[in-house]
Amino acid sequence: MAIQLVKGTKDLYGSEVLQWQALEQKIRQLCAVFGIGEMRTPMFEFTELFARGVGETTDIVQKEMYTFTDDGNRSLTLRPEGTAGTVRAYIEHGMHNQPQPTKLYYISPTFRCENTQAGRQRQFHQFGVEMFGSYSAAQDAEAISIASTLLEQLGVKNVELRINSLGCTECRNKYNQKLKEFIASHLDKLCDTCKERYLKNPLRVLDCKEKSCQSVIAQAPSVLDCLDEECTTHFQKVQSILKEMEIAFTVDPKIVRGLDYYTRTVFEFVSNGLTVCGGGRYDNLVEECGGKPTGAVGFGMGIERLIMILDQQQQMENDTLIYIGSMGEKGFLKAQTLTLQLRKQGIHAECDTVERSVKAQMKYANKINAKYSVVIGDAEIEQNEIELKHMQEGTKENIALSDFIKIMEQKGHF
Ligand code: ATP
Ligand code: MG
Repeated sequence: MAIQLVKGTKDLYGSEVLQWQALEQKIRQLCAVFGIGEMRTPMFEFTELFARGVGETTDIVQKEMYTFTDDGNRSLTLRPEGTAGTVRAYIEHGMHNQPQPTKLYYISPTFRCENTQAGRQRQFHQFGVEMFGSYSAAQDAEAISIASTLLEQLGVKNVELRINSLGCTECRNKYNQKLKEFIASHLDKLCDTCKERYLKNPLRVLDCKEKSCQSVIAQAPSVLDCLDEECTTHFQKVQSILKEMEIAFTVDPKIVRGLDYYTRTVFEFVSNGLTVCGGGRYDNLVEECGGKPTGAVGFGMGIERLIMILDQQQQMENDTLIYIGSMGEKGFLKAQTLTLQLRKQGIHAECDTVERSVKAQMKYANKINAKYSVVIGDAEIEQNEIELKHMQEGTKENIALSDFIKIMEQKGHF
């Protein structure tokens, strides 16, 4: 039997690889105008770097890392995220001696042993940016503006930016304590993992995807109430710069991100329920990894998820919204004119131009994946009433023929 590729990995070739190359080129051009230099770190590092950097109690370190021992009995791990390696390199090459901030980016394969599903692979790729040497809110806003500009330039619609602040170490500790007490009083409703992990790392419970935990989390105290004056001012400044930059966002006090190193600002870009980009400030990480205290902020964007969103969007734009079927001469003429009217409004409509039977027309509508269909004949024109059918759901509604264009415009531009 032929050997197949490993579950959760993918070969890229043909038109797909061309799409990747085009995207990578866009990213590189964008980084050039933002003054960000490329950093290429090795695919594996000492396991300790991730344990220390990402955090011992995170899902990534506890169950998602590809760790192995080499012939010198050293424990090594395939990169499960890009920040820790970049921090190591920043320290190792004394980059703090360069004019600050130091701005670095990477586009690199990333490995996590997760259950595979849509948007979740075991080898995936991240476009990441890490910026060192500033504690200012302006650096947070710059990081967010890079991701936002890329999504805008790619024409990604339906993407929402959510931001939050976890505060400094003191605020975080204060919140952790408050959260622990809250969770302890709702323990019976939590999943088994959360029942245990809340003691060591209560923030992780906020990140839990289990439904039962989600309903408890909804009532949890807000981290924003635990921020001290400096952290509150910092977060407000991030918000005012974003407003000035005309970058839309919502504040979501439940965002904590899956990694332990974040302080103050955290953010994510979400599209159709999937996080395409996540990031934040990590002011303690450089010091924890052996460097001097250094303010830093960054993000990671999943390339596969980005491409998935772009593909779905393309698919939706190409899909036929409505097939206008017809019966008899009058209906046939009406269908031609209504179709043109909708197309002029930027809506993809199709009608019969082959003079097929009604049955064959509907078969065709199915084949081209039309979302809606109608059939217009003498009776429909006379009574000014047509039956609008939702092809996938099989539901029907009666509407006035004279309202047809207006209704389809609403459905087409929802
Ligand atoms: P999620 O909540 O979806 O598990 P995460 O919090 O683990 O995401 P990060 O560690 O912040 O994500 O990684 C940054 C980005 O990398 C994510 O927003 C996502 O786009 C992408 N990503 C993370 N894990 C995977 C994966 N297993 N497969 C594909 N892309 C991924
Ligand atoms: Mg994850």
